[in-house]
Amino acid sequence: SKQSGKSRISFYKEQYQYEFSRRVDIQNSIKEHIEEKSFRLFYQPVYCSKTQMMTGVEALVRWPNTTIHYTPDEFIPIAEECRLIDPLGKWIIASALEQLSLWQQSYETPLTLSINISPIQLQKKILETYLLETIKTYNLKTSSIILEITETAFMENSKEVIEILTSLSNKGFRIALDDFGMGYSSISHLISYPIDIVKLDKSMQSLDGENNKRLKIIESLSLMLKKLDFSVVAEGIETKAQHQLCKKLNIDYLQGFLFSKPMPANEINLILDDYCKK
Ligand code: C2E
Ligand code: CA
Ligand code: CA
Ligand code: CA
Repeated sequence: SKQSGKSRISFYKEQYQYEFSRRVDIQNSIKEHIEEKSFRLFYQPVYCSKTQMMTGVEALVRWPNTTIHYTPDEFIPIAEECRLIDPLGKWIIASALEQLSLWQQSYETPLTLSINISPIQLQKKILETYLLETIKTYNLKTSSIILEITETAFMENSKEVIEILTSLSNKGFRIALDDFGMGYSSISHLISYPIDIVKLDKSMQSLDGENNKRLKIIESLSLMLKKLDFSVVAEGIETKAQHQLCKKLNIDYLQGFLFSKPMPANEINLILDDYCKK
């Protein structure tokens, strides 16, 4: 009837208004937290599968300690839409590089630092300028820095993205293709872009049933990636069975809750204390 049609419309309108005002709230909070520098970074260890040593960490941004909490999967896309990812991304780069320099001062360690770079940040040359400036400030080497990008970065302006990535790669930064195996994965990306490291998406790791197609795909994929001389990282490892499979497939680096969750920098210190106090 007309009546229920109308109320359905107003229901959608309310939903829409709710969703809209929630976004505006999050946008405003992001802006505030950037200004107050109250975002935090956690770091998740990456282990070499041969030596079982922590060889690097991935920086992961965290919402400040406030009553309402959002995950990066919730607030990063909003920051991207309203272009707040540029100032947020700058803060992430500066804080992560400062932390790496602190680790290098206190420990004899060749630790690598992975930073997630949004496709939006990759559309501009100023990313490289900012990275190089910050690296100089903290007296670091570009080769210690891994820039993690996803294939969504290749969807638009692919020519310019190739140029930007090639330039970064020539300066010594290492480029990791994140979330490989889901979404827009294409073998051609592995050839057209200057990629050094491939991170197999955590969805690839689900091993329900030994004979499934997923297992065969991950086996052939990792074989192919090795043949092409990529460093391969398996992320999202939660079970011993997944770890076993990674060993069988000769995967180079491992990351996941089975080994370590993302943690504040001072907890990474405890791991480094065990390895290599200066
Ligand atoms: P990602 O780059 O693929 O990061 C890996 C995500 O998997 C992280 O979630 C991490 O906490 C989680 N993870 C690690 N080990 C396991 C595991 O064993 N099992 C499961 N289920 N999850 C695991 P997080 O920190 O919530 O970040 C989610 C996504 O948000 C990231 O995915 C990345 O796309 C984005 N993100 C996070 N931090 C940043 C950042 O600093 N900058 C940008 N641009 N994006 C970020
Ligand atoms: Ca990542
Ligand atoms: Ca990933
Ligand atoms: Ca992701």
